[in-house]
Amino acid sequence: MSLERLWAGWRSEYVAGAAAGDGQACLFCRLGASDEPDEETYVLWRGRRCAAALNAFPYTSGHLMVFPLRHVGEMEDLKRAEATELWDALTDAVRALKAAYGPDGLNLGVNLGRAAGAGIPGHFHAHALPRWNGDTNFMTAAAEVRVLPESLPSSWKKLRAGWPSPPAPSAAP
Ligand SMILES: [Zn+2]
Repeated sequence: MSLERLWAGWRSEYVAGAAAGDGQACLFCRLGASDEPDEETYVLWRGRRCAAALNAFPYTSGHLMVFPLRHVGEMEDLKRAEATELWDALTDAVRALKAAYGPDGLNLGVNLGRAAGAGIPGHFHAHALPRWNGDTNFMTAAAEVRVLPESLPSSWKKLRAGWPSPPAPSAAP
């Protein structure tokens, strides 16, 4: 499989509510600060410096994103503690995706800049999604039509259950 094909999933990136936030903070800032129930915003996990949430327009079921709570766009501007927690969260995301879906493989990826396909280039975020043998061929054949076997609430429940770290530790010091 060519790299071009492998990464085509987020070449044009869709992110939950990205267009709906005119005049407000960016989507990731809103998700990070939201006091709405996680099952409504699809936040999967909250840490001290980072959080994870489902992509509301997933490439495959279970497509999630991990991001720092601070509004920072450039990877090299992440503080050491943010980068460390982000990587730990991404590792937990891999565990959760494996536990929830038992996929044949996973993609982890970052788009830096709009030219690279970032939908929200001002706020760094990493994608993680499960893959199955043959799904790329299927997606190519289906063009832009996305046929997903399960609903977002169902994905959220599975991944939340499979997440290794306890959710919402924000009350901790
Ligand atoms: Zn932001």
